[in-house]
Amino acid sequence: MTPKTWNQAEYWGLGYDFDPQWTLTPTQQALQAKLIQVCATVLRPNAIESDRHLIYPRKNFEALAALGLLGLFVPKAWGGLGENHVCAAMVVETIARYGCPSTAMCYTMHLGATAAALFRAHSSSSLQDLLQRLDQDVLIGTLSYSDPETGSHFWYPVSSKAEQLDDCWQVSKKASWTTSAGFADWYIVQTTSPEFDGNYADLSCFLIYRDEVQAEPHKWDAMGLRGNQSGTLLVDQVKVPLDRMVGPKGDGTASNDEIVDPFFLLCSSACWNGIAMGAIDIAKRHVTRKKHVDVGMRVADYPTIQDYFGEAIIDTTACRMFTVSMGQLMDRLTNDCDWSIHADLAALPRSPYLSWYWQIKFAAAKNVAHVCDKMLHACGGSGFKKDMEIERYLRDGKAGWVMGPTNEVLRQFVGKSALLGFESLDYWNQTVNERVLHNEVKKLDAEGKRQLAESLLQQVAAEAGVSDSTVSDSTVEKPLVEAIA
Ligand SMILES: Cc1cc2nc3c(=O)[nH]c(=O)nc-3n(C[C@H](O)[C@H](O)[C@H](O)COP(=O)(O)OP(=O)(O)OC[C@H]3O[C@@H](n4cnc5c(N)ncnc54)[C@H](O)[C@@H]3O)c2cc1C
Repeated sequence: MTPKTWNQAEYWGLGYDFDPQWTLTPTQQALQAKLIQVCATVLRPNAIESDRHLIYPRKNFEALAALGLLGLFVPKAWGGLGENHVCAAMVVETIARYGCPSTAMCYTMHLGATAAALFRAHSSSSLQDLLQRLDQDVLIGTLSYSDPETGSHFWYPVSSKAEQLDDCWQVSKKASWTTSAGFADWYIVQTTSPEFDGNYADLSCFLIYRDEVQAEPHKWDAMGLRGNQSGTLLVDQVKVPLDRMVGPKGDGTASNDEIVDPFFLLCSSACWNGIAMGAIDIAKRHVTRKKHVDVGMRVADYPTIQDYFGEAIIDTTACRMFTVSMGQLMDRLTNDCDWSIHADLAALPRSPYLSWYWQIKFAAAKNVAHVCDKMLHACGGSGFKKDMEIERYLRDGKAGWVMGPTNEVLRQFVGKSALLGFESLDYWNQTVNERVLHNEVKKLDAEGKRQLAESLLQQVAAEAGVSDSTVSDSTVEKPLVEAIA
């Protein structure tokens, strides 16, 4: 195997012996080698500046565009590289590990937005035009989902809506977090559907351009991923042409399950794995060079330090292989990321594996924090200083756990669905938990039950005044009244 190089010299971190190169095609391996060089010369020096001065990494995106990476999985016929899911994970991991974790996260969001556009580009001239210019015009995309009122429940956009006017959509979106907000050139935003009737599962997506959003980048100042600029975003009753709806009306849930979740979870896991590997690399360089003259040993000669590295490498390899394996599954399900399968709007092959994507993100985000912490310990006080860069990797890696879907939410989803079934997840808060309801009512004495019954009957009467069907369809009324009786 050719040695890994860095600025024409041998790489100072772990070599290819510790990378799963056999999962990449020769073309992908060549792309990776080129990308590592760009990381050495452009991305990494910019990462230090981005972190220090909160600079958005647009220059890094220009370097990625020069390699054709903004259109990584855009079909070749549309001028893209026509690459697959495994390649996407490799590219994100490589950027995070050798170059700039903030850029890797902005790029993850760009890939998520690109995938959402490709998913429904078949009959949209707006989307096709955009997708063919990504690299040439360095058009950075992102996903704007999280709502200020629902926090990390990004699938629940209560502050957003869309309406159909005569010949356009009027889109209103309020997002609490959007990576690249104000810097991206285009945004995929999710709102409730036009003619929304109270069912939050009825979601639609829109393509919105830079001059149609209001952002507040001056407010961004965070512990890590400081170049990521994940600020607020406002789309204030913006009128867009009809073909800027991405997919049909009400396609949001399908788009989430088939594209946004799988791509975000795959690529962000790769980002956390890349940060973990980056920290191991930096720590290796330090411990193999630092000597203690009194005992004549390098730090790397202590078994304690060797154990730190052994465990960090094994745990990170497990996360990387898990992530690659999900990329391989997605490739197999889609004939290597062939977007033409989605000309059939009902084709949703990635969706049934949601719980697997949740698991890779949980594992990778949990691992990165632990590994960076241990690598800092291995470097001692020297690691605590900024010039070694390991403290930056540690701060950047901390974003993994808290980014939605957060690790608390993910382990709940996995555990709850395993024990109680997928329906029990109740994303949009629509199913009554009868056990909880009965248990709470049981705690009331007769007077308490009477008061509750009266207040419920008043509510029923008020709702009946608004809409008879709402009351008669209510899933709450009957069991609760039975319980009280
Ligand atoms: C660096 C960064 C970049 C981001 N980029 C984007 C982006 O590009 N687009 C986008 O749409 N969003 C983005 N986000 C937002 C992200 O996806 C989450 O929405 C956000 O991190 C949630 O923060 P919050 O303060 O609202 O947390 P909250 O939702 O208030 O969570 C607080 C705590 O409650 C826990 N919690 C929440 N719900 C549950 C539950 N049901 N069960 C158990 N525990 C629960 C959480 O895990 C957490 O511990 C980004 C976030 C970060 C940190």
